[in-house]
Amino acid sequence: MEGKMKANDITSKGLLRTAELYQYVLDTSVYPREPEPLRELRAVTSHHPRAMMATAPDAGQHLSLLLKLVNAKRTIEIGVFTGYSLLQAALTIPDDGNITAIDLDRSSYEMGLPIIKKAGVEHKINYIESEALPVLDKLLENPANQGSFDFAFVDADKINYANYHGRLLKLLRPGGIVVYDNTLWGGTVAMPDDAVPEFNSASRNFTIKFNKLLAADARVQISQVPLGDGITICRRL
Ligand code: SAH
Ligand code: CA
Repeated sequence: MEGKMKANDITSKGLLRTAELYQYVLDTSVYPREPEPLRELRAVTSHHPRAMMATAPDAGQHLSLLLKLVNAKRTIEIGVFTGYSLLQAALTIPDDGNITAIDLDRSSYEMGLPIIKKAGVEHKINYIESEALPVLDKLLENPANQGSFDFAFVDADKINYANYHGRLLKLLRPGGIVVYDNTLWGGTVAMPDDAVPEFNSASRNFTIKFNKLLAADARVQISQVPLGDGITICRRL
């Protein structure tokens, strides 16, 4: 295995080995800086039967940093749920910034909306209840939208990630960033086929294909970050 480091050689240096260490990160660096509206949104979301779909606060903090690093003003969010990552973005971008936020089910968003309104950032959000793909196609119909977005966060149906990617690269400006969530799919991407539970296998297989596609895509610089369920950051070249 010349030049190829096996995962086993490096996991001994891996940092987040215990739940206690993750708790330490949250308690030390994340919770003390989490804006009050996000804390509230997390509390409200905890009553949702699918609460575990929400973006984790450490991942949210990371998104906020990325948004600032690219001076994001115009952004896209695919997969809103109750709005944690959306509110994080809305609190981060400037007052005249705009987020096109797409989700096919508005009912979860309604849970978070009162908190988003109270935080005074609703005017930055253009919420569209729809399948994401036709919305991206609609945006692309207007040439003025092409190359006009600074940032996108994709956290929805894995089956469409490759379809989103092609369209988002056209919508992003050079230097703009798209972040894909759940790119390690609960660790199943590295499991043998027969060890993956049936209900998980379709999304897991799409994720494996998508990760290969990104690795081979010369139009982007990428970084796979083992944060949350795995995020892949792509910078449009
Ligand atoms: N980013 C959110 C979590 C998103 S969960 C947060 O921080 O809490 C995934 C969401 O994707 C769900 O709300 C689901 O309704 C939405 N979704 C799934 N398939 C979709 C599609 N094809 N188009 C738009 N939204 C979709
Ligand atoms: Ca997610």
